[in-house]
Amino acid sequence: MLTLQINDTETKMYNLQEIRKEFPILQREVYGKPLIYLDNAATTQKPLCVIEAITEAYTNVNANVHRGVHFLSQKATEQYEEARETIRHFINARHSNEVIFTRGTTESINLVAASFGDTFLQKNDEVIISTMEHHSNIVPWQLLAERIGIKLRVIPLTADAALDKESYTTLFNEHTRLVSITHTSNVMGVTNPVKEFIDIAHARNIPVLIDAAQSIPHKKVDVQQLDADFLVFSGHKIYGPTGIGVLYGKQQMLEKMKPYQGGGEMIQTVRFEKTTFNELPYKFEAGTPDYVGAIALARAIDFVNTIGIEEIAKHEQQLTRYALEQMNRIPNMRIFGKPDGSAISFLVGDIHPADLGTLLDRLGIAIRTGHHCAQPLIDHFGIPGTVRASFAMYNTIEEVDTLIAGITRVVKMFA
Ligand code: PMP
Repeated sequence: MLTLQINDTETKMYNLQEIRKEFPILQREVYGKPLIYLDNAATTQKPLCVIEAITEAYTNVNANVHRGVHFLSQKATEQYEEARETIRHFINARHSNEVIFTRGTTESINLVAASFGDTFLQKNDEVIISTMEHHSNIVPWQLLAERIGIKLRVIPLTADAALDKESYTTLFNEHTRLVSITHTSNVMGVTNPVKEFIDIAHARNIPVLIDAAQSIPHKKVDVQQLDADFLVFSGHKIYGPTGIGVLYGKQQMLEKMKPYQGGGEMIQTVRFEKTTFNELPYKFEAGTPDYVGAIALARAIDFVNTIGIEEIAKHEQQLTRYALEQMNRIPNMRIFGKPDGSAISFLVGDIHPADLGTLLDRLGIAIRTGHHCAQPLIDHFGIPGTVRASFAMYNTIEEVDTLIAGITRVVKMFA
């Protein structure tokens, strides 16, 4: 259990050193240098309580969920369902049966594309996405387009790389059936005003899916306040384990949708003549779920709640502002979009992003380079890729200083 007092309630101090102690990997070195982990948009590091939750679950309560009358199975089921309740509370869903456990953002979007697609869409129907989507919010819709002949409409960007709201409103027509857009860009670290985009769609009776993979670790996400019809995220980007994620869907929508996969647990009765399906959320959780992953994800959410998502957001915004200030002093620095607290994508002069990334790695700095699974956005900028530094609750101002010093050093080498 987490016993750490991370926030001093009297002084309201963000106790960064105490937080860092919870993440064992942050103590390691790479190439003889202290690890500076700035690849958090790809995946976050795991606190001890999450690592322990996995060991604890396998040590003390491991048994397949939902199917057993025996003690262990009931314990595992209890903890799995408590995990669902933790997630429900965290995103403020109305009912826990609106929380479906999946493998992650990618599977959640594929589930909606397949199931919403099979239930509601036909040839020539249209789905609106945007230029700044991750491939996992593009390709599932393209696969559906190949299968049943739907069409994709794409929201363009403004000159400063924000979603173009005016163009968005012109994309709707009598064929529009769904809008599926990202909350925060994984490339630019820009958060979109998705509530406005949802309201515009709802005024036309069109449901909206929000890809919250990059927003959920960095800000309060409230599905009822947003009035999102679907919202998806991955556990591993919010300090939880890999292989577990969430699909939130409004109950009345999920109830109408056909199952995604067939198998155990998602059925009520199976006869060779006809099978009837289980109620929510189990209708969408075929087979043995990753109950240990779900339990450990709930532990990660408890950890985030202990610190406070607003406190984390404030800290990360401070790091971002400071990093931007320092970066803007480096000649020929080009920053993409208007980052607001999770990630910064940049290029310096004509240094190839892979060269910059490789040299920074030698200094112990883990950043990501390339297209970040958002090739249409990279094409939009007409560049080979970017270098991306992305932040988490445990990063420090000193780490940003080391990053800036590292970039400056590489720039000098190329001069
Ligand atoms: N959407 C966004 C915005 C992302 O950043 C990512 C992960 N980079 C994904 C979707 C896919 O997440 P996962 O690989 O965990 O399924």
